[in-house]
Amino acid sequence: MSADTDLYQEVVIEHKRSPRNFGTLPAPTHQARGHNPSCGDDLSVQLELDGDTIRDIRFHGSGCAISMASASMMTEAIRGKNVQTARELQQHFRAVLTGTEDPEGAPIGKLVSLAAVRRYPSRIKCGLLGWHALMHALNDEGAPAEEGVVTTRDGT
Ligand code: ZN
Repeated sequence: MSADTDLYQEVVIEHKRSPRNFGTLPAPTHQARGHNPSCGDDLSVQLELDGDTIRDIRFHGSGCAISMASASMMTEAIRGKNVQTARELQQHFRAVLTGTEDPEGAPIGKLVSLAAVRRYPSRIKCGLLGWHALMHALNDEGAPAEEGVVTTRDGT
């Protein structure tokens, strides 16, 4: 009913139904795969960086509504932004989901629709999976651009 407690906000369901930027890039410069064994979510994130700018981003794989919606909203939020902005957004979003930052007033834009996830500890990994893969991809500069080369461990 309220934005604070309802896990499946309409926008979450809508993103799960038609995820944005879903698919693969022809020539990704960075990528990583995130796997969350406790839920079965398995998502890969691909980036095309131009200097510090995230020129393009795609994700693919399969997961629950929370992981898919979160990754989908993530791609919308950071596409065209610079790496620093993406890292800051990740930090705020992570802080909201892990309960160290109040969602009210947190600079996370539309991602606030996932804030209720913080009340469901078993789902927090779902909400952060795509972001973990994103951070992993950004931290692995120069890694071979082959799918599945980098795998986040146990959703952490
Ligand atoms: Zn999940």
